[in-house]
Amino acid sequence: MSAAREKFTARTVRVRAPGKINVSFRVGPLREDGYHSVASVYLAVSLYEEVAATSTEEPGITVGLDSRSTLDLSGLDMPLDHRNLTYRAAALMAEVTEHPSGVHLEITKRVPVAGGMGGGSADAAATLLACDALWNSGLSREELAHLASELGADVPFALLGGTAVGLGTGDRLTPALAKTRLNWVLVPAAYGLSTPEVYRTLDRLRREQGIEPDAPTEVDPQVLKAMRAGDAGVLGDALVNDLQPAALHLAPGLRATLEQVERAGALAAIVSGSGPTVAVLAADDEAAMDLVDRLGAEGVEALAVHGPVQGAKIISDTLL
Ligand code: ATP
Repeated sequence: MSAAREKFTARTVRVRAPGKINVSFRVGPLREDGYHSVASVYLAVSLYEEVAATSTEEPGITVGLDSRSTLDLSGLDMPLDHRNLTYRAAALMAEVTEHPSGVHLEITKRVPVAGGMGGGSADAAATLLACDALWNSGLSREELAHLASELGADVPFALLGGTAVGLGTGDRLTPALAKTRLNWVLVPAAYGLSTPEVYRTLDRLRREQGIEPDAPTEVDPQVLKAMRAGDAGVLGDALVNDLQPAALHLAPGLRATLEQVERAGALAAIVSGSGPTVAVLAADDEAAMDLVDRLGAEGVEALAVHGPVQGAKIISDTLL
């Protein structure tokens, strides 16, 4: 009998995962393991990363960038090798499920790289879900969340989406109730900030000022209440980000951006996570669109988004 080789059929699973805003972000002292304990209220917003995972006949993992990405791909500081978070997520899945890999990962980038919105984390979460489907691994959401936390503090939230309180390093998540849509305007920067450098700067500024913070154990109940009620006015007064002084120290130009958006009619504005993206809260949809127009007229590129939105989700599964 001739050993006819089974014909290889490629399959592509495409997953999208949202970027996030930290609506409230409390940061405690540096722990012995090198992490900081945080208390975060995460909000998933309608700016999505996409990862298309395609099975390949050749073993191994390759990573590419889809030219339909809305970001300028020329100056992207993002390695496409084993350091890429999608590569690490697929390698972890292959190891845990003992799957002989053979996958190409194509990233469609929309979330600013090193922008404080967890774009890399969204890519990692999308890859976990895509490989799980592609390889028929059948891991539960809990098992995927556990793998996600091994990849980074923000990865479990990109998987979960919605609104959640994150304790520990941000990976111990409790979903929070927030059904009403909140409208935001994002002002990305033309540069990135390194998250570890922002944390180091925070520690140094605190040392210089003699500030010794306690480890945060809860988030401001006012924030959760305002989000539950969808009350943008109250929420605007409660926005807080302990990393903001450090981000402003490293990127002083952000001060002018914060002032400019407030002049243009923001309810409130905050640096998102480790920055430098500025997240601006708007009263409603129309106010957000007005703000985008007004900033555009001043030469500032801005983007209207809303949240909460779903976490990582399969959007197509195709045999090629
Ligand atoms: P966070 O808000 O979670 O701290 P961030 O949004 O500021 O993160 P990312 O865009 O997630 O930052 O990426 C930070 C760094 O990780 C980048 O400088 C980049 O070189 C590296 N990186 C590795 N893989 C990816 C990826 N798939 N997408 C983006 N960055 C990646």
